[in-house]
Amino acid sequence: MTIMQAHIPTMFMMVIIVSLTMTVCTALVWRPERKEGLGYWTLALALHSSVYTLYSLRGELSDFLTIIVANTLLAGVFVLFAEGLMQFQQRRLNRWLTYWPLLIVPLVLYALLDQLAARVIVMAAIILYQALLVLVIVFSRHRQTDGRGQYFLLTAFGLIIATMAYRGVGTALGMDQMLLITSSNPIQMATFLTATVSMILVGMGLILMVKERADAQMLKLAMHDELTGLPNRRYILEVLERLLAASDRQQQPLSLMMLDTDHFKLINDRHGHQVGDQSLKLLADTLRSRLRTQDHAGRLGGEEFLIVLPNTQASGARELAEQLRQSIEQTRFLTRDGRPLTLTISIGLCCLEPGAELDSQQAIRRADQALYLAKQNGRNRVEMAA
Ligand code: GH3
Ligand code: MG
Ligand code: MG
Repeated sequence: MTIMQAHIPTMFMMVIIVSLTMTVCTALVWRPERKEGLGYWTLALALHSSVYTLYSLRGELSDFLTIIVANTLLAGVFVLFAEGLMQFQQRRLNRWLTYWPLLIVPLVLYALLDQLAARVIVMAAIILYQALLVLVIVFSRHRQTDGRGQYFLLTAFGLIIATMAYRGVGTALGMDQMLLITSSNPIQMATFLTATVSMILVGMGLILMVKERADAQMLKLAMHDELTGLPNRRYILEVLERLLAASDRQQQPLSLMMLDTDHFKLINDRHGHQVGDQSLKLLADTLRSRLRTQDHAGRLGGEEFLIVLPNTQASGARELAEQLRQSIEQTRFLTRDGRPLTLTISIGLCCLEPGAELDSQQAIRRADQALYLAKQNGRNRVEMAA
């Protein structure tokens, strides 16, 4: 293999400029009041550019600055990445796991100042540990993290780990003639390229993660009712459309439940709006705990709820509706002074058999008519559309 040649001062410049550009990008996105990691990450990227500025001045500045200070700052870069990620994930980790390299790096480098190979191996091992720690922090929450920005980070820190392993093992195997940071050779090339590419990936990944989380929060707010946490009108109607199309395709029945709280106006009037709100919450909790995982309940508005039951025939839907009605009747709702309060619901049912050819609006209208019947027939009961 021919040894790659690169113009070293240009490589330094590239790492410095890329890190600085990413610093500016994360700084612009940073909103201090939101505490989502970007403050730490901006500092980390800025520090990274200063590390490479010091490296590039090897020979012109003292070894103390270009070796001991520069490498301690590099360890600091990873500490800041870890801190930012923990702020993003809103958790704390044992501080020692993150911070020990800041103490050890200057001591070890001071002791090994005259032993280049040993110094490189130790630094490679410490950075490898730090990158691995960041990788574990990201990966251990990857299911709870929205979006794909996190994969940019996993790639970047994976790349750093691979490069540090190459540096460490290569040096241990006697490739130490390649170690002068200002010489052009494969180990240095890999280090420079990784430093550049990983900072691009990290900057983009972090910004993306913050944005993806904000998007997911927006979507959740737009789709859910604030009081009960249930899907709101828009969302449950969307779910109904989707499930209706699916049951049509699969030739399966689908049932709809329209649920309305009885004399809710009276409850508000007698006990106040707050008690009314509390009972709606408790009602929603009961729905959540009683329904099967494939069923969907949403708040249509006020004290009215829509429940969509896929793969459910009329008999099953009626049985479930009856269970819900009884369960609400038996739930102990409380007034403000702690006295029990009985709440009852009326339910209108509509079952769509395969080939019924009803659209969602027609189906809802039928369930609504059945609900009206339930109210007329005395409330606290279930009626089914003809
Ligand atoms: P019916 O048995 O015929 O359904 O009688 P009702 O009193 O429940 O019916 P109506 O639709 O006339 O009244 C619904 C009441 O629900 C009126 C409204 O003040 C109350 N309401 C709607 N949304 C909320 C809410 O979010 N919180 C509270 N506390 N009350 C609400
Ligand atoms: Mg009502
Ligand atoms: Mg109503």
